[in-house]
Amino acid sequence: MIVENEKIPFDINAIRAEFPVLKQKIYGKDLIYFDNGATSQKPQVVLDAINKYYSQENSNIHRGVHHLSQVATSHYEEARTIIQKYINAPLQEEVLFNSGTTAGINMVAFCFGELLTEGDEIVISAMEHHSNIVPWQMLCERKKCILKVIPMTKKGELEMDVFDNLLSNKTKLVAVSHISNSLGTINPIEEIIEKAHAIGAKVLIDGAQSIQHMKVDVQALDCDFYAFSGHKVFGPTGVGVLYGKKEILDSMPPYQGGGDMISKVTFEKTTYNTLPHKFEAGTPHIAGGICLGTAIEYLSKLDIDAIQKHEYELAQYAEQELLNIDGLRIIGTAKNKTSVVSFVIEGIHPFDIGTLLDKQGIAVRTGHHCTQPVMSFFEIPGTIRASFAFYNTKNEIDIFIKAVNRSLKMLR
Ligand code: PLP
Repeated sequence: MIVENEKIPFDINAIRAEFPVLKQKIYGKDLIYFDNGATSQKPQVVLDAINKYYSQENSNIHRGVHHLSQVATSHYEEARTIIQKYINAPLQEEVLFNSGTTAGINMVAFCFGELLTEGDEIVISAMEHHSNIVPWQMLCERKKCILKVIPMTKKGELEMDVFDNLLSNKTKLVAVSHISNSLGTINPIEEIIEKAHAIGAKVLIDGAQSIQHMKVDVQALDCDFYAFSGHKVFGPTGVGVLYGKKEILDSMPPYQGGGDMISKVTFEKTTYNTLPHKFEAGTPHIAGGICLGTAIEYLSKLDIDAIQKHEYELAQYAEQELLNIDGLRIIGTAKNKTSVVSFVIEGIHPFDIGTLLDKQGIAVRTGHHCTQPVMSFFEIPGTIRASFAFYNTKNEIDIFIKAVNRSLKMLR
């Protein structure tokens, strides 16, 4: 369990030693992993926890009387408590396990959506990931609701005065990302939450790109829902969390029907289980949940403020060095941004740079990053995106800059 205030000082070499994948060579070069926005690498404690679960504890949870089932159940529920404490959720049952951010948003769009009626409005932003656009479009089609979009400026900042005008007594939910995955903008979610609440709307925060970079306190934020993915926060793939306020979750119908989510089943009528089980039908990703707890416990021992500062400095340094390259343009120049540097280079397709960087051992992402409307807004096919985690270094950025220049020499 988390020991309060026992923080490990930020020591980059010690941190890097925890991540075996970083010791690899790719095409004979030291791996430089700058694709953390897509997924993060896993520390040894998480790898050990996965191995331990499958080699010593593997069992189904919540319904076994035997020893292994009880061990797995208690570790799964302990993981929920670790996550509850980390995000400062008031209640353990407000932390729902699912398969990731996409699953959490779809669940809210379906179940909260069931409470909406024709003409109700949902507000999202112009910089959302597809997983925070499409579920709302599907809901709007199903329930004849209206989707409104907060526009952004050419810097990649939300136009907050327009947001004010979008809100009305028809607005039922505002769903925005905390940090944009393609621009790195940190959105003013505190202001968004306050303004949405003032007119009685609920707020969902897509935290897929934030919880690994900064302290998240759902009570201080007062958000109604907060979704994130385990794999982006140094945990396994296929597991994630949706935090939701108890009274709202209680008011929503269940999502999927099946085992564990019921209280009593007869052919005439089924009654549902209490939270969190009501929204967790079927056998969950047990190893995933437990090991996400391990990842969050690991993160909780690090100094998150030092991590945030380190990643901010990396992003600033990368931008400053990239801007020396002829014809290079940074996409997303918001004042408040972090950890993501997206760019395009005149006359060069992002994919070509990505491929040549790969041959030099450097992993970046190229393309639209599941934000096609952002690419349309900037009138570009895609970007080259370097996204940093706390285990990245300035030295890696120096090698990356040289590699970009080398690639350009080949392409120009
Ligand atoms: N939201 C944002 C901002 C993201 O960056 C991502 C993934 O990149 C998602 C949602 C979807 O996350 P997942 O694919 O883990 O469900």
